[in-house]
Amino acid sequence: MARGRPRKNVAVTIEDTKPKITCIGCGCDNQKNFYQARDDNRKFFGKVPYCKDCIQKIFQNYLRKYAENYNLALYYTLRKIDLPYIHSAYTGALQNVTNPDAKIQGLDNILSAYMKSMAFAEQNGWGSTFDDSVGEDQIDGLSSYDDVVKVKRKINRGSTNTQDFDIIEMDADELVQKWGRFDDDDLAYLESEYMDWEEQLNGIVDKFVDIMVKQVCLQMNEIRHDRENGVPVEKKLAALRNLIKDSGLADLQNNEAASQGVGMTARDIEFHRPVREPDKELNDVDNIGEILIGFLGGTSRAIGKENEFTEVFDKVYDKYTIDIIDNLRHQYGLDFGRQGGDSDAQSHDNDKTQEESIEVKD
Ligand SMILES: [Zn+2]
Repeated sequence: MARGRPRKNVAVTIEDTKPKITCIGCGCDNQKNFYQARDDNRKFFGKVPYCKDCIQKIFQNYLRKYAENYNLALYYTLRKIDLPYIHSAYTGALQNVTNPDAKIQGLDNILSAYMKSMAFAEQNGWGSTFDDSVGEDQIDGLSSYDDVVKVKRKINRGSTNTQDFDIIEMDADELVQKWGRFDDDDLAYLESEYMDWEEQLNGIVDKFVDIMVKQVCLQMNEIRHDRENGVPVEKKLAALRNLIKDSGLADLQNNEAASQGVGMTARDIEFHRPVREPDKELNDVDNIGEILIGFLGGTSRAIGKENEFTEVFDKVYDKYTIDIIDNLRHQYGLDFGRQGGDSDAQSHDNDKTQEESIEVKD
């Protein structure tokens, strides 16, 4: 941005014969404040159409959005300005800014350090646009942003506590289909607001309502962004208010809240609180399963049939088994004519072999 910076009188050079670029973000035209773009699509100016200051601003916004993940912020910045993301160049830049002897230091300089290395892009074979990126799969946190989107869903209707939410993982592709080409953070916000409306209205079945709710969510998202960027939001807020009023959503919401039938409540529960598979250990707290196994296994054993029930029975009831003979042997130090037989496990095995040899096999 040129604001607050005196415009320099650039000496007349060969550069001046070239067409002059103006930043599409802030309108500045200091030709030295632009990064080079070598691809054919931008050959007229041969420059990235955002000035360096605006790119720094874009980077800072992504940094905030992705919780100070410098790698991810750099990646999304390069996506926006259409320059290649080269992972090895990133790690190189990272080494440079963390090296105590380096001229430019500190993670905040990672963007300029990366851009410096881009001067060697051609000789390194790094390509010239974002499509030429290499090594995105090594970016921490990127894959999780791309396959699924974590959407927050408020739990308590009408609750003002923003901590009351579930996190639902939703397919990113599906959300893009529904909302269009937004990044994951926007998608998560839009879907979360939509679900909130869905709950307030006890489901959205009407096409018109669906369209209006989407418009409201999109408007809210814009307001959110403007707020983040310090842009006044009064106009957009007024538009949002009108949208909600004119679409009848406000009335609809009040009506729905007043009368929720049993069917809707059941649907509500199914949709928002589906029964989950219980934990393995909580599967059978009353031990009904064990009783069944005890009965089936015990009966099978009694009628001389070895099958999967007796197998499970042996396994499950093993810890409750008291071997009287074994105990006696230990107590009196007696040897019933067996070899070894000191270890429990071993004597157990021996018992079984004996039993099995007695039993009549079918
Ligand atoms: Zn600019």
